[in-house]
Amino acid sequence: QIPSAPRDTAIFDLIAQEGERQRTGLELIASENFTSAAVREAAGSVLTNKYAEGYPGKRWYGGCEVVDQVELLAIERAKELFGATWANVQPHSGSSANIAVYGALLKPGDIVLGMDLSHGGHLTHGSPVNFSGKNYTVVSYKVSPETELINMDEVRRLAHEHKPQMIIAGASAYSRIIDFEAFRTIADEVGAILFADIAHIAGLVAAGVHPSPLPHAHIVATTTHKTLRGPRSGLLLSSDPDIAAKMDRSVFPGHQGGPLEHIIAAKAIAFGEALQPEFKAYAAQIIKNAQALAAAFQAKGYRVVSGGTDNHLFLLDLRPQGLNGTKATKALDANHITISKSTLPYDTEKILHGGGIRIGTPAVTTRGMVESDMPKIADLIDRALKGENVKDEVHAFAGGFPLP
Ligand code: PLP
Repeated sequence: QIPSAPRDTAIFDLIAQEGERQRTGLELIASENFTSAAVREAAGSVLTNKYAEGYPGKRWYGGCEVVDQVELLAIERAKELFGATWANVQPHSGSSANIAVYGALLKPGDIVLGMDLSHGGHLTHGSPVNFSGKNYTVVSYKVSPETELINMDEVRRLAHEHKPQMIIAGASAYSRIIDFEAFRTIADEVGAILFADIAHIAGLVAAGVHPSPLPHAHIVATTTHKTLRGPRSGLLLSSDPDIAAKMDRSVFPGHQGGPLEHIIAAKAIAFGEALQPEFKAYAAQIIKNAQALAAAFQAKGYRVVSGGTDNHLFLLDLRPQGLNGTKATKALDANHITISKSTLPYDTEKILHGGGIRIGTPAVTTRGMVESDMPKIADLIDRALKGENVKDEVHAFAGGFPLP
């Protein structure tokens, strides 16, 4: 302990306020979750004091005998959880993991085929404002205008036309099963690397309630803080030894310096939690809740993009209600219901506002909510969108479900 430092109340009061916000509100951001006390304890531990450039047994710094064991445990648990033969637990975030993938496997200017951002892809899948779009030649696939599903025939057509060096399968706002096997077939047809970005669905994949990209993808990247319920961080996985060796060099020394061993310890704890049978039940419940919530909105006349969900999230098209993402976020924020605004496939709203919102159930499921609680959430959101003040009801409802 540092004995004499006065408590920094400016910051700790804000942390307490944020804790209160999380406790009293309804958290429906699809990429957020509530970590366990053990994950938070490791993330706030003395491991943050340690430099450990390199990998276990091959460090550039002395005194790494303890953090080596932490990192090895994290690696072993990640491999077991996802059925991979190699894992790198050092990426600081999902974007850092993706930067390492591009850096390891492509040359600047190479062609990448990824999902269009406004159709559900991520910034790092080729957006012009991101390193991916600036440094690589990007071709984007969109969902089908009729079904709002990924059209594998269209992916195949674009792959054969543009001959990308890398194809990305993965999304931030797509509510349906991603067919990694079909993506691999197409990648093989054109000699491309298949990169699966499972940032959103990692917890579902780990629990076996969404098909795994392993062994289909050459390289898999993920965040660890969404459905996987770990600390805010990244992870890389593969079962291809040649790719693994390139990836290790790309993470360090290619794109990062010292790893965050406190966060690696927190990831190891989260992986350990995800290996427990209760996590399987948790992941299955996330999907049941998302399906029940989507159905509750449909029963109230809302349009759910693609007509439903197979995973932890769905998109509500709010244009028929005369709303957009910005207006909806404002109305819901005022009632302590947090969601994220979203563009929709073939959106007619300005990108800045988006025609709808993305709703996800990982966090409310961690609080213990089940299908029968979902109509209440749909009701609160519906009334808040119509201008009613439901804040007290939100607090009373959320208060019935303790945080971890
Ligand atoms: N990849 C996908 C598919 C994502 O949804 C996200 C985050 O939203 C990321 C990568 C980036 O993760 P991070 O925010 O940790 O950089």
